[in-house]
Amino acid sequence: MQPQKPKARVSLRTVFKTIIWPRKKLIFIGLLLILISRAAGLVPPWATKPFMDDILVSRQMDKLPWLLAVLTVAILIQAVTSYVLTIILSVEAQHLISVLRAKVQKHLLRLPTRFFDNQKSGALVSRVMNDVEGVRNLVGTGLVQLVGGVLTALLSVGFLIYINPWMTLFVVLPMSVFGIITLKAFSIIRPVFRERGKITADVTGRLTETLNGIRVIKGFNAEPQEIKVFEAGVEQLFKNIKKSLTSTSFVTSSGTFLVGLASVGIMGLSGYFELSAGDFLQFTMFMVFMIAPIVQMSNIGSQLTEAFAGLDRTEELMNLPVEDDGTVRTVQVEKINGHFEFKDVSFAYEEGKPVLKNISFSAAAGSVTALVGTSGSGKTTIAGLVATFLNPDSGTITLDGQDLSKISLTSYRSQLGVVLQDDFLFEGTIRENILFPRPDATEADVQQAVKAAFVNEFTDRFEKGLDTVIGERGVKLSGGQRQRIAIARAILANPRVLILDEATSNLDTESESFIQESLKTLMEGRTTFVIAHRLSTIRQATQILVIEAGAIAERGTHDELIAHNGRYYQLYTYQARI
Ligand code: ADP
Repeated sequence: MQPQKPKARVSLRTVFKTIIWPRKKLIFIGLLLILISRAAGLVPPWATKPFMDDILVSRQMDKLPWLLAVLTVAILIQAVTSYVLTIILSVEAQHLISVLRAKVQKHLLRLPTRFFDNQKSGALVSRVMNDVEGVRNLVGTGLVQLVGGVLTALLSVGFLIYINPWMTLFVVLPMSVFGIITLKAFSIIRPVFRERGKITADVTGRLTETLNGIRVIKGFNAEPQEIKVFEAGVEQLFKNIKKSLTSTSFVTSSGTFLVGLASVGIMGLSGYFELSAGDFLQFTMFMVFMIAPIVQMSNIGSQLTEAFAGLDRTEELMNLPVEDDGTVRTVQVEKINGHFEFKDVSFAYEEGKPVLKNISFSAAAGSVTALVGTSGSGKTTIAGLVATFLNPDSGTITLDGQDLSKISLTSYRSQLGVVLQDDFLFEGTIRENILFPRPDATEADVQQAVKAAFVNEFTDRFEKGLDTVIGERGVKLSGGQRQRIAIARAILANPRVLILDEATSNLDTESESFIQESLKTLMEGRTTFVIAHRLSTIRQATQILVIEAGAIAERGTHDELIAHNGRYYQLYTYQARI
């Protein structure tokens, strides 16, 4: 059951509909500005003929001030329009980038938990941050420059034909060849760019993992291996860039060659047609004005190709189905009682390898179900099903009589609390970490949670108390202290259903007793599923499920199971901890 990865290819039409059309006003203004700018840009080449023939050759000096004035105005218009253009469109492009990033992140967070099992977080960071950058070239000046370029080229061709149609043919032909080469080259480059985003994401992802796991890597002396993997990644990236460089430089060089060829031909033809100096100069200038945008277009083309490749990758991600799109999970649960019923539940991560086989049990509202068993037996998977991180392949789980797979995730999870082994604390203050599921909780609630989880027992010793910053840039906490913060957080969230994965690591006796005490408070009155390792927790449980190879081997209370003298008894007597 691998999450499918549809290959997406964003079409021009989609881009037009979703990106260009909603900004039609701005882009229209952009096009208008580029039109003015390009029209003004044609004044200097036009001016070469009167300057040459009337002023330099015929010495009609009275025309000079006019000519200079017209030229100055034209240059000024060009400068102002291109400035305004950049300001309007580049700002809008950046705005779009931030909107898109937010949209992609939002979608990403709505993807099923399973999706993240198979992904490097660094790679996903790159998907959110880098892949959308390309649209800068679509909305930014790129697209209008392209249109402007085409316009200038067309206008220039008009002027060229007016001066000399035959000579024009000599310019247009090689340039058409160039156009075809460019188009061909870009269709080759698009997949290369697309691949590049993927490689970058992989390499960045691996590097992030390396840095996060630096202790393990150093501990196992695995640096050479990491270096090798990174080198291979960087090499792959280099090869990809080389591939696109070869194509782009072929485009540029063939452009230069064909332009050169056209110039040689023009020189010959202007001799043949006996052009005046002014005509020759004007023709050459217009020719430059026609060719420049075409060459420029090849650059813009490469930017646009990159933009499309990035959008392709973004689209791939956006096409992945979210875990709750509101069509299947339509049942809203108000206040949960917390009665769970597992009926013949089976689950497999990979087809043909069942991890849970026909599990059936019920957990009454407010009861504590302890899951015990050897590692790999399926305890976490059961907890994952209760948390709706996973869905049963067959069988049903009901909550208060409702099929859990039909219940809206938001309405369910707002009443769910999860405390995991290596609990997630983020950089920030202890208070922020506790407040995170309920940012609007009152100070009294926070204090109550803090006391119940014995967090104040260590924060009182900190100068800033609950406002002490933890994490990389702050205080380092012990495992037991981190656990207590996670417990305080869960107490504050006040969930109806609680999933608890007890830490296996040995804590000092003092921490241990604090945690036992606070867990007791936490579990009170809530339906709790606990992957239990502490005897004290297991003894408190309403029922113990002994899981063996994905099935329930035994069930009952501690005393019942001890009396039964079976698997639980073995686990209990052979291991001090289960
Ligand atoms: P426990 O919590 O009892 O240690 P788990 O429920 O984590 O056991 O795992 C049960 C089985 O499922 C194990 O064989 C494990 O290898 C497999 N498993 C767990 N998570 C995944 C996953 N994301 N993909 C594939 N197999 C998995």
